[in-house]
Amino acid sequence: MRLVVVGGGIAGLAAAHRAVELSRERGTPLDLTLLEARDRLGGTIETERAGGFLVEAGPDSFLSEKPWALALCRRIGLESRLVGTDDRFRRVFVWFGGRLHPVPDGFQLLAPTRLAPFVTSSLFSWPGKLRMALDLVLPRGGGGDESLGAFVRRRLGREALERIAQPLVAGIYTADPDELSLLATMPRFVELERRERSLILGLWKASRQAPAASTSGARWSLFVSLVGGMAELIAAVAARLPHDAVRLKHRVSGIERRGADWRVTTEEGGPVDADAVIIASETHAASRLLRYVDPALATMLELVPYASSATVSLGYRRADIPYPLDGFGVVVPRSERRDLLACTFSSVKYPGRAPEGHVLIRGFVGGTLNAAALERDDGEIVDRVRRELREALGITVDPTLSRVWRHPSSMPQYAVGHLTTVETIERRVAAAPGLFLAGGGYRGVGIADCVRSAEAAADAAFARR
Ligand SMILES: Cc1cc2nc3c(=O)[nH]c(=O)nc-3n(C[C@H](O)[C@H](O)[C@H](O)COP(=O)(O)OP(=O)(O)OC[C@H]3O[C@@H](n4cnc5c(N)ncnc54)[C@H](O)[C@@H]3O)c2cc1C
Repeated sequence: MRLVVVGGGIAGLAAAHRAVELSRERGTPLDLTLLEARDRLGGTIETERAGGFLVEAGPDSFLSEKPWALALCRRIGLESRLVGTDDRFRRVFVWFGGRLHPVPDGFQLLAPTRLAPFVTSSLFSWPGKLRMALDLVLPRGGGGDESLGAFVRRRLGREALERIAQPLVAGIYTADPDELSLLATMPRFVELERRERSLILGLWKASRQAPAASTSGARWSLFVSLVGGMAELIAAVAARLPHDAVRLKHRVSGIERRGADWRVTTEEGGPVDADAVIIASETHAASRLLRYVDPALATMLELVPYASSATVSLGYRRADIPYPLDGFGVVVPRSERRDLLACTFSSVKYPGRAPEGHVLIRGFVGGTLNAAALERDDGEIVDRVRRELREALGITVDPTLSRVWRHPSSMPQYAVGHLTTVETIERRVAAAPGLFLAGGGYRGVGIADCVRSAEAAADAAFARR
């Protein structure tokens, strides 16, 4: 089979790798070409080593409870290279009202599951706590797709949304909760309300049924990374592809149908003809490529909005940091009007991120609610992050390392109605034999979901043979 994969992020690589596996398993000859516009593989995933620090430009981990990325690591011999989080420091803080408040123990993203830490928490006011407790008696509501913001306001109140749900969600999706589809991002909560009515009761019941992760004997923490950073995953997958399959600095400029074949054109090289094409780029790039193949499909792809963000990594001598750094990091409610959306204490969360006697802190800036922060130049972005770290953590010294990475239009935003858009996209793609889509724009933004969608695309391409 002649297969072209467009895009060399984790989705494109995982699709190409699965195709290699399938060709071997089935004895089907494979002529594979992976076209990547940039001069490197990995897409948003990039790791740099500098001054003894290991710095992640984008993603720093993947979820282990969604099995696909972990399973891929196992198949490519990376299991011994996986590292979990240091769960002694598992808690996260909310920077609210000029203070760092720990997220109460047992809090599960939107709602509490344990009474004492919630009741004694300094993060919520008494009226706010009582409003959250109303969830215990409120009837079911909603119906249809609802924004995460509307859902949390309805069940738990405004304070729960502003002080915890919004900043935690911004740290994951860089999104505006009033736009974000609950069904597309956290269907578990929709199901919980449908089944149990009260989120607090439902989560409490579930937490009693499933023993805590630390006692369950689960092999991995919730988030996992690799000893050498996320780029190790990219390098290991790439090493398993045929040596001549990958063409860097090849931006695909057009895709056309030629009878039963596909012709993929790049700006740099000659056209490549294929039996099947997997487009694993951002949906806005896929939209441009498909405008002559199926204009309606291109329009649907254009409907998926993307947010931009930047990461700011700062290295310090441990002795210069007055704050104990006894957590994974800090999230910042939008109502605080800061540039920082969140910051991770990277060298506390994962081993080997900073040299002996040093710490690595990574700030996260921008997103849908604060796109203006990215209009500043890199120096200004660093200055503002440092000013905010001074206020939050008392860090006054100059960092020994400072790095900024920008991620323009890189994070898909699953707006209300997203799943309907995706279903339409999938129907139209199914009507174009040999064409497949994969990546973070469709049914899950995280790395694990990207691997799942990519492997499903390769499976579907081979199923046609
Ligand atoms: C700052 C940041 C932090 C994140 N942190 C995490 C995290 O900790 N954990 C997690 O699970 N997820 C995280 N994510 C999400 C994660 O990055 C994505 O799930 C995943 O990496 C997306 O992979 P992808 O292959 O779908 O897309 P991308 O990585 O965006 O790759 C798409 C590739 O397609 C290429 N391309 C586009 N157009 C063309 C063209 N015309 N021709 C050729 N090539 C083209 C691009 O150059 C790019 O390399 C984060 C995202 C960001 C932005």
